[in-house]
Amino acid sequence: MADTSRIGLIGLGTMGAALAANIAEKGFDIAVFNRTTQKTRDFAKAAGDLAPRITPCETLEELVAALAPPRAIILMVPAGDPVDDQIAALRPLLDEDDLIIDCGNANFHDTNRRMAAGDGPFLGVGVSGGEAGARHGPSIMAGGAPAHWDRVADIMEAIAAKHEGAPCAALLGPEGAGHFVKMVHNGIEYADMQMIAEIYGLLRDGMRLDTGAVADLFEAWDRGPLDSYLIEITAKVARATDPATDKPLLEVIVDAAGQKGTGRWTAIESQHLLTPIPAIEAAVVARNVSGRRAERAAGEALFGPAPQPVEIDHATLEGALIAGKVLAYAQGFVMIAATCEAHGWDVDLPTVARIWREGCIIRSAMLDDMAQALGDAPGENLMRTPHFADLLKRHHGALRQVVAQAALHGHPVPALASGLAYFDAMRTARGTANMIQGQRDFFGLHGFEHVNGKTGQHGPWAG
Ligand code: NDP
Repeated sequence: MADTSRIGLIGLGTMGAALAANIAEKGFDIAVFNRTTQKTRDFAKAAGDLAPRITPCETLEELVAALAPPRAIILMVPAGDPVDDQIAALRPLLDEDDLIIDCGNANFHDTNRRMAAGDGPFLGVGVSGGEAGARHGPSIMAGGAPAHWDRVADIMEAIAAKHEGAPCAALLGPEGAGHFVKMVHNGIEYADMQMIAEIYGLLRDGMRLDTGAVADLFEAWDRGPLDSYLIEITAKVARATDPATDKPLLEVIVDAAGQKGTGRWTAIESQHLLTPIPAIEAAVVARNVSGRRAERAAGEALFGPAPQPVEIDHATLEGALIAGKVLAYAQGFVMIAATCEAHGWDVDLPTVARIWREGCIIRSAMLDDMAQALGDAPGENLMRTPHFADLLKRHHGALRQVVAQAALHGHPVPALASGLAYFDAMRTARGTANMIQGQRDFFGLHGFEHVNGKTGQHGPWAG
């Protein structure tokens, strides 16, 4: 087999097949391999016009032989053991300067470990946008050494989504920085989706809107400040009909949402970092609560149904979503900044906002202003930057109205409520943790800091 292909790819599942076709379409010769050989054959057979650029390989040896050295091989297999197993199978076949690029949703600690192992060039690359993004232009968040990124940057930039002509792809930092940023992206995605679902709940159960009216409203919001992919697809999901029953699709979808782990990882990591991301954590918890269907039904039988009729005007609901969204993104960006400090990474937050502008699931018009705001005020919490502080001043009242009305009328809105609590806590100069410190000292003599600056102080209960 001639060693002419520019890049290799292992794992022709949903994402790998789409990414490989995207790479071939952009004019790069690619060699592909899949554990199950039939999938490789099927992929090659379906390649159509792209076939001349694709070399299907049935063994790893064939794949390696098809690549021009120094080689670059993308892994698109499930995160965790499959990545380690694939690396272990591949490395002995490679030269020492051949590059492995993990484009799956790896836990960034695994990526750090794989790079620290030092058994060859390695990049950890987060790819967002689902199958359509991978096929036509994803957002690409890379971590690793600049010299390794430079070897494939032309390919990554060619296949990435473009915003005003600029590729939504960047090397964000060393080690697992790319996979870390992808993880936080997914955490924000959880919060954004959950807040939308909470507003949908108020419309459906509180205001008795049918799915067509819900779709109309989200379509209208998609033309305003909330303009985003998630609002757009919310309208489309609400508008869809189930062909088997002719009912609105939402009526035949079970109200329990799963997760693959990136949201949970974000929540866990934030606890390690002592960085508050309550709206994101609430969204992760809400998915877990959604899975408890039998318990929820038992609760309703015992206590009666929670949601009661409520009237909230549409502009107030829109304002609440605007404020909630800003607060969720603010928490995500603060978390990225905190992790960079902890790991000694120098991730440029405006660049993150820019490469999220197209291609990824949380793409939204607001990210333009976020890139600008984070660039103008380096190190500042997004919620205190002038543009977003102004937005919050205008809309936190709406968020408060919605959370209050929801609570009074039995509608669970955990992400919106957590966003509001974060906003209020982060503008309360004198909090209540003096009581916590007093309690801790009372039962455990942990000592407290006196307002005069002295530490290790005790109350009168100390002997
Ligand atoms: P799929 O399940 O569609 O495909 C998985 C691929 O990996 C298949 O080609 C499968 O081969 C191969 N594979 C599975 N286990 C192993 C193994 N132990 N050794 C070698 N190959 C293996 O997954 P996706 O394409 O959806 O996901 C791939 C990666 O991309 C994951 O990390 C995922 O989290 C990430 N991702 C997915 C997104 C999505 O929207 N689906 C979005 C962004 C990232 P075989 O045919 O033999 O089973």
